Amino acid sequence: MPGLQRELDHFMDGLRKRNPYQTEFHQAVEEVAASVMPWYLQRDDYRSAQILERLTEPDRIIAFRVSWETDGGDIRANRAWRVQFNHALGPYKGGLRFHPTVTDSVLKFLAFEQILKNSLTGLPMGGAKGGSNFNPKDKSEREVMRFCQSLMTGLHRYIGEDVDIPAGDIGVGSREISYLFGQYIRLQNRWAGVLTGKGSSFGGSAVRTEATGYGCVYFCEQMLNHHGEGLEGRTVAISGSGDVALYAAEKALQKGARVLTLSDSGGFVHIRDGLDGNQLEFVKELKEGRRGRISEFADRYAGVEFHRNARPWAVGCEIAMPCATQNELDLEDAKSLLGNGVMAVSEGANMPLTAGAVHLLAARGVLHAPGKASNAGGVAVSGLEQSQNSMRISWSREEVDGRLQTIMSEIHRQCVRHGERKGRVNYVDGANIAGFKKVADAMLAYGVV
Ligand code: NDP
Repeated sequence: MPGLQRELDHFMDGLRKRNPYQTEFHQAVEEVAASVMPWYLQRDDYRSAQILERLTEPDRIIAFRVSWETDGGDIRANRAWRVQFNHALGPYKGGLRFHPTVTDSVLKFLAFEQILKNSLTGLPMGGAKGGSNFNPKDKSEREVMRFCQSLMTGLHRYIGEDVDIPAGDIGVGSREISYLFGQYIRLQNRWAGVLTGKGSSFGGSAVRTEATGYGCVYFCEQMLNHHGEGLEGRTVAISGSGDVALYAAEKALQKGARVLTLSDSGGFVHIRDGLDGNQLEFVKELKEGRRGRISEFADRYAGVEFHRNARPWAVGCEIAMPCATQNELDLEDAKSLLGNGVMAVSEGANMPLTAGAVHLLAARGVLHAPGKASNAGGVAVSGLEQSQNSMRISWSREEVDGRLQTIMSEIHRQCVRHGERKGRVNYVDGANIAGFKKVADAMLAYGVV
């Protein structure tokens, strides 16, 4: 459709000019725009209201300096941002990331994805993301605490339980959330559920830590079942060894799949016989308890190989679950997966596939669950944590897990409804169209704001 391509090119040219050098943000928007454009071009009301242009412009970006002191008394300054992208459907919601690669472009792509992801959950949440180029890895406990306190001192006036509710992401786990929350209630002199991912004794929800990984596997299973396949006995390659990866591995094991790989930024481990329950507990303690390296897993177990500075996608598997970071699976990796007969890719991370990899998998008919659908379980349980906080109750594990499964099934249903073509579902299109339409409808109803 030449007219369609021309409109898409025209829109993307404008977006690139308005947001120079923000390549991650361009990539995320282009994927969504390509999915929704055929529908959008037929809707004069949405076009004349400039919904696509307005939905790709953040409501605001708060940028601030975070000054803090090392244990040795040296002064450091990091950059931090909060991108409050769109709150048409509810208060801003999205994680905070602490990693040296964080830039305004990375946070804009993440916040934009978050708008559509939150829309898919059916819960009243807008889209936001934030973070800093601070690296918590090589810092002491006290340094992390001082940094979190200083960041919250800069951020607290812009967030609130009805305004913007941050959560964790890469580099921000329960330790960092606790320090941030402690500083928030000190500054405000009031207890409010303004962060999610809190400890279970002070307002946190059951299953929040597990939710993204579990949800990714629930979604993958639904996707396979819908196409007459199953998860039991399948071989699975997982990247990462953080919260998302470890709980995706745990749920995959519970479903009878064989997990062959895990990784971190130093390389990947190949577990030829498949990960077992004891080994998973070892990795959890290694990563969550000691903050160790995945190479130590291979040192501990015979038959587990460590591949330094390599990614796991050349290992033969039927299902790939990228659960580490953006653009971690490129065109060459996609070719390797196809060469080994991969049947499905379910994203635990946000935008882990490059555009080239996405197009190749689509052309070859591989089932591909985009993160905004398959990793929405994390933010969904964050939404449930907010509900529990405002009602001053806490639900059991079973209750929260049941609700998580229902939400993942509903997201799957929406993807099928908007992405099914001739009996096969394009989940990327389905998720983009379903998530976009709901936000677009709300923006149209609000008039010019
Ligand atoms: P964690 O910080 O707990 O773990 C991240 C994992 O990815 C670590 O194993 C880390 O290795 C690895 N990693 C990070 N950056 C790179 C890199 N540049 N190259 C190779 N490996 C890397 O983060 P999460 O598990 O929470 O998040 C993982 C992904 O899932 C992210 O894309 C995040 O946005 C997404 N996500 C997370 C949600 C959540 O609830 N936590 C919700 C929805 C999406 P190392 O330790 O060596 O850095």
